[in-house]
Amino acid sequence: MNVPFLDLKRQYSAIKEELDQTVFSVLSHTRFIMGPEVKDFEEKMAQYCGSKFAIGVASGTDALLLSLRACGVGPGDEVITTAFSFFATAGVISRLGATPVFVDIDPETYNMDPNQIEKRITTKTKAILPVHLYGQCADMDPIMELANKHNLKVVEDAAQAIGAKYKEKKAGTMGDFGCFSFFPSKNLGCAGDGGMVITNDAEMAELLRMLRVHGAKPKYHHSMVGYNSRLDTIQAAILSVKLKYLDKWTEKRREHAETYNVAFKDSDIIIPKEKDFNYHIYHQYTIGVKNRDKLREVLKENQIGHDVYYPIPLHLQECYRSLKYKKGDLPVAERKAEEVVSLPIYPELTEEEQNFVIEIIKKTV
Ligand SMILES: *Cc1c(COP(=O)(O)O)cnc(C)c1O
Repeated sequence: MNVPFLDLKRQYSAIKEELDQTVFSVLSHTRFIMGPEVKDFEEKMAQYCGSKFAIGVASGTDALLLSLRACGVGPGDEVITTAFSFFATAGVISRLGATPVFVDIDPETYNMDPNQIEKRITTKTKAILPVHLYGQCADMDPIMELANKHNLKVVEDAAQAIGAKYKEKKAGTMGDFGCFSFFPSKNLGCAGDGGMVITNDAEMAELLRMLRVHGAKPKYHHSMVGYNSRLDTIQAAILSVKLKYLDKWTEKRREHAETYNVAFKDSDIIIPKEKDFNYHIYHQYTIGVKNRDKLREVLKENQIGHDVYYPIPLHLQECYRSLKYKKGDLPVAERKAEEVVSLPIYPELTEEEQNFVIEIIKKTV
């Protein structure tokens, strides 16, 4: 049986009519840049997350970039972040001329370990950038406490965590900014690139709205140099349709996660640990195994889709050699990079498919 890692065609066929209709409607009205669907989706997202403002941008990467820029991050500054994330988390810090300062992760949640932060704070530190990896929030209370104590900004990378909750608060609403990605494979994905920033600060929201249109306000008046980073009208229209289904899809993901959890309990497989105070949305269902590469081979032989997020921690990436980290500096992230493998978890995964995945894995590990 061929079990794809992700099959977006299943989602499309379930809501095809609605999606086709909304896309054709944008094609007909032709307001492709900053059309009415953008504002409409921003309002829906603000309401969904429980934030005052939402600003559509061109990608999750740009959501992070523009947020850090709005925090005033620039050359000479430092931003503290996790060593275990997608590259964009660190890349945006570097692109602003600042230096990423990597800390190790909690072995249970794979998220930034709050106990590792304070010793890395210097006079150059401007912000903390926690990531809610795989769909589970980082431990935000101690992070916010440190940020308040040291007067630092907090930008949440919630690209994988739309709808996740930490102590009843939605991902993205706890820091100064929350950043989302609508990359097609994310839990809420569009038909290309897209992103969003949420904030409760009216001034910051205004600044972000300027930054996404080259720093202009009003048009052709530039008090700052910004970016070309808007969410396309057509993407906003698609996202408004899909947002209605998101919570239902998340419930399905959680059911699949529970099925895996039960199946893998009492084995050598390390299963995801959802903290009591968290609501995990399972963007990924990621297990840890000793002989990961052998398991990957067997999965491949059996045509079971899977992937490794992430095989190289950020502090050991070649482009950061000049930062002088070495193997052994952040041991938990380094060990996890060798153990983890993510399994199919999309809402449309069938029982038959999931049972096959479980059977093969239990036979192998
Ligand atoms: C996907 C992702 C991003 C980047 O989002 P894009 O929309 O692809 O630019 C950033 N951080 C994390 C953790 C992600 O998973």
